[in-house]
Amino acid sequence: MQNTEKTMEKIVALCKNRGFIFAGSEIYGGLANTWDYGPLGARLKNNVKDAWRRRFIQERRNSYEVDADILMNPRVWEASGHVASFADPLLDCKECKMRFRADNLIDEFDPEAHADGMTKEEMFAYIKAHSIPCPHCGKHNFTDIREFNLMFQTYRGVTNDAKSVIYLRPENAQGEYVNYLNVQRTMRAKLPFSIGQIGKAFRNEITPGNFTFRTIEFEQMEFQTFCKPGDDLEIYEYFKEYGKKFFEDLGLPAENLRFHDHEKLAHYAKAACDIEFLFPTLGWGEINGTHDRTDFDLSRHQEYSGQKMDYLDPFTGERYIPYIVESTYGLDRTVLALLCQAYDEEVVDEAKNDTRVVLRLHPSVAPIKVAVLPLSKKLSDRALELRDDLAREFMVDFDETGSIGKRYRRQDEVGTPFCVTVDFDTVGDADKAGDNCVTVRERDSMEQVRLPISQLRDYLREKLAF
Ligand SMILES: [Zn+2]
Repeated sequence: MQNTEKTMEKIVALCKNRGFIFAGSEIYGGLANTWDYGPLGARLKNNVKDAWRRRFIQERRNSYEVDADILMNPRVWEASGHVASFADPLLDCKECKMRFRADNLIDEFDPEAHADGMTKEEMFAYIKAHSIPCPHCGKHNFTDIREFNLMFQTYRGVTNDAKSVIYLRPENAQGEYVNYLNVQRTMRAKLPFSIGQIGKAFRNEITPGNFTFRTIEFEQMEFQTFCKPGDDLEIYEYFKEYGKKFFEDLGLPAENLRFHDHEKLAHYAKAACDIEFLFPTLGWGEINGTHDRTDFDLSRHQEYSGQKMDYLDPFTGERYIPYIVESTYGLDRTVLALLCQAYDEEVVDEAKNDTRVVLRLHPSVAPIKVAVLPLSKKLSDRALELRDDLAREFMVDFDETGSIGKRYRRQDEVGTPFCVTVDFDTVGDADKAGDNCVTVRERDSMEQVRLPISQLRDYLREKLAF
């Protein structure tokens, strides 16, 4: 029997071999912690975005999407606190010159130590007291801990002087906050209302990445709810559950999800919680963060920009700066979690040692919705017609090479929920008219039904809904 255990190594190999995710700049030897999405990965990612948009923008009342620029006025990052304090605590091994994050050293030494609750000084004292060895050379001889800002800097214009420094945004949130007044005014929005955004952010991380779990360029799906002070904690609790439900709807089972409440809070937060997913090999990892950010952000933008950020409550006549509850979804991490959850090696026939790899993705996020397979190349013209007809509504693959069994298995491996076979009965011949029916085979159960082509679109539409 082959080993059917699910490992990250197998998932990475499948991603690479079947066009989901490739190493970034691969022909040049890659660039650490960067990855490129291939044809199937890009579709999977877009489908997750569509699902998120549906749940967070389309279905919710008083919810608006923006698409803000990555480059922002550098004053934004002074107001947000990122210029002063968005830093990792780093130290170097004096023996082998390798650089590490102090909190990671401690967490790997003792997961119960909770380095996220320690100051820089406490971390240094802990590492010393426990003589934590260098993970690379095994010696214990570290420098002091230094703060290393995680923002990528670049320069605007042709001169490299300090005046022209700008940053690649390290989070999307500020794009929503600086547009709060614009959205409120133009949408005539009343509290509570939400602004969502999907977009890229950049962090100069030194930590090893674990595939796409930690990358220097990544995409976030962010949702900021502006509310009356005092309503914030209820909204915060609501979005913790709403986020968990979203993941469950996408196919992540409750037993592989958990809340992780933060003990140490960021300077802006009153309450903070992550949703973690149980990744194979890696263990529990954060895929969402929900934060009660109070009026910190808008107050700071009022202070730094000079623009009034307060809201005139039409019901009470009061003026106040709204509180913000943020719920952020890592898109790349969500995609990775879905791939990990979906990956399965199913023993089809133990006696024949027959195992199939199947990606049990929720049909709504599957990159290819339906594959059209002619039973013989003589049927390819009719099958291509059907392919073109279905492609007006769905992502369709067409495959005429190899046995039908092999073609099914190829589609199983990339998560295609339905295969449609065109056979000689579909088309008919000189003696017998075609029945205009096709065989639809379902990925997970491998069950087959015969359907008139005229009913096929309705059938698929219903099964593919999110
Ligand atoms: Zn060392």
